[in-house]
Amino acid sequence: MNIILLGPPGAGKGTQAKLLEEKFGLKQLSTGDMLRAEVASGSELGQKAKEIMDRGDLIPDEIIVDMIAGCLDKPECSGGIIFDGFPRTVDQAQALDSMLEEKGKPLTGVVQIVVDETVLVERLNTRIRQAQEAGEEVRSDDNEDTLKSRLEVYRNQTAPIIPYYQSEGQLFKVDGMATIEDVAEQIEGFLKSAQAA
Ligand code: ADP
Repeated sequence: MNIILLGPPGAGKGTQAKLLEEKFGLKQLSTGDMLRAEVASGSELGQKAKEIMDRGDLIPDEIIVDMIAGCLDKPECSGGIIFDGFPRTVDQAQALDSMLEEKGKPLTGVVQIVVDETVLVERLNTRIRQAQEAGEEVRSDDNEDTLKSRLEVYRNQTAPIIPYYQSEGQLFKVDGMATIEDVAEQIEGFLKSAQAA
């Protein structure tokens, strides 16, 4: 199974991806995590990416698509992939479709985690507090100003991929305002019916 988790920043994609990795033996590919690893390593890409991410903007499509292309053939991806934070533009969605087709890895579906935007600031502040309490570094793009830009980018550049997948009959919506366990159950229900189909 190969699925995409879609939703605004703070929707809970990363949390659900981790649960799905355990339950279904899938591999999470998070472009945000990959980019943060580049930033931490101080690579040339990381240095360029940091500035863009701190503004809440998107990294150019070619860079992201190359990054994903380099992962699809890894052995840990052979049991199926959860795409988290990718695709984020219609061009990325089209590029993913071609890559998956070429590799004979069909897309099982796209899970859209639907949340009320008003809770996102609150969730962000909780994430910052939890990171601080755990003695972890707070993400440099986790602040209210950058969140505003990230949400705007989501609305303008990422939300248009919803009708793209809807028209292909691949979209499955879950209520992201429910508890973590309940959202996980909704997604599992979808995956099990997709497995059975
Ligand atoms: P979020 O919690 O906002 O969904 P991510 O960890 O997925 O955060 O992404 C953080 C940042 O990394 C984004 O704001 C963007 O700058 C960059 N990024 C991640 N994935 C992509 C992508 N697919 N295309 C372009 N930029 C990306």
